[in-house]
Amino acid sequence: MPDIRVGVIGAGHLGYHHARIYKSLPGVKLVGVADSRLERRNLAAADFQVDVFESAEALLSKGLDAVSVVTPTITHEEVTLQCLRAGVHVLVEKPIAPNVESAERMTAAAEEHQRLLQVGHIERFNGAVMALEKALRRPRFIECHRLSPFPGRGVDVSVVLDLMIHDLDVVLAITKSEVVSIDAVGVPVFSESEDIANVRLRFASGCVANLTSSRVSLEKMRKIRIFEDNAYVSTDYSAQEVLVYRKKPGAIPAGSNPMEHISIDPLDVCKDEPLKLELAAFIECVQENRRPLISGEEALRALRLARQIEDNIKAQPAHG
Ligand code: NAD
Repeated sequence: MPDIRVGVIGAGHLGYHHARIYKSLPGVKLVGVADSRLERRNLAAADFQVDVFESAEALLSKGLDAVSVVTPTITHEEVTLQCLRAGVHVLVEKPIAPNVESAERMTAAAEEHQRLLQVGHIERFNGAVMALEKALRRPRFIECHRLSPFPGRGVDVSVVLDLMIHDLDVVLAITKSEVVSIDAVGVPVFSESEDIANVRLRFASGCVANLTSSRVSLEKMRKIRIFEDNAYVSTDYSAQEVLVYRKKPGAIPAGSNPMEHISIDPLDVCKDEPLKLELAAFIECVQENRRPLISGEEALRALRLARQIEDNIKAQPAHG
């Protein structure tokens, strides 16, 4: 099978790593990198010995099979449509778009041009999340914390679309149930939109999820904790660790400390780099013309919920 000819559009903080990984993946030829900023083009050219281009158009003219779109979210629709119209399969970073209408036009264009559209919900390729998904039976209560210091990037959208959307995608995947109520609050600190947000979601299954996201935190934390009838599963996304706490079988003897009757077992986790697994999965879908795990439609579900949460924040009496 000939190498898949790949390009990267947007070689900023994350696009640099897309280029690094494509450069090393078997069966892939990194044809070029496009970025409107000279210093980012120079860095990619020096580190990856690859041709660089000032515009997406110039890169697309080299003839690509597939491309990563890693530009700011407000540009995703324009750049993705340009690539799909050129007949190129697209992996666009998350969130798919800043609004549902844009995302719908993107999924419709992929359909129209018969090209694949994958969206970079990277946590689904995190070995910890893959292990967690297999271990769960019936989540009753979910607690997510995604906190980080102010990045100075990604602030073209609120923290709900920037950070919380990772957890919304994972929570939707593990609850497999419809959201029936939303109660959210958010506060802007350094940017125009929310920099901290919290939401309580209730699902038709009865499960409740409480998610907190902040991009103005002094410390970094990325955790999802899930409570089931007989187990508590604690996952650290960054450390790629999953611990399962269970009550040991049998009755607790009178007078003993019940906490001593809890077993704590780590799950086996594949600790490979999630971005590498995500890009490898995209290339495999291109080679086999197979629908990606995180298709445009899947990403639209998370985006619709994220936008409902933003609307709910704005509708709170104390807002503004
Ligand atoms: P960034 O600002 O560091 O990089 C964006 C780059 O795109 C810049 O170098 C800019 O010059 C370039 N660019 C902008 N418009 C362009 C265009 N039309 N053509 C060519 N180049 C263009 O931003 P970033 O942090 O790398 O984020 C990029 C995207 O990746 C965002 O959508 C963000 O949400 C997403 N992201 C995802 C994750 C994740 O965990 N999956 C993490 C970080 C960022």
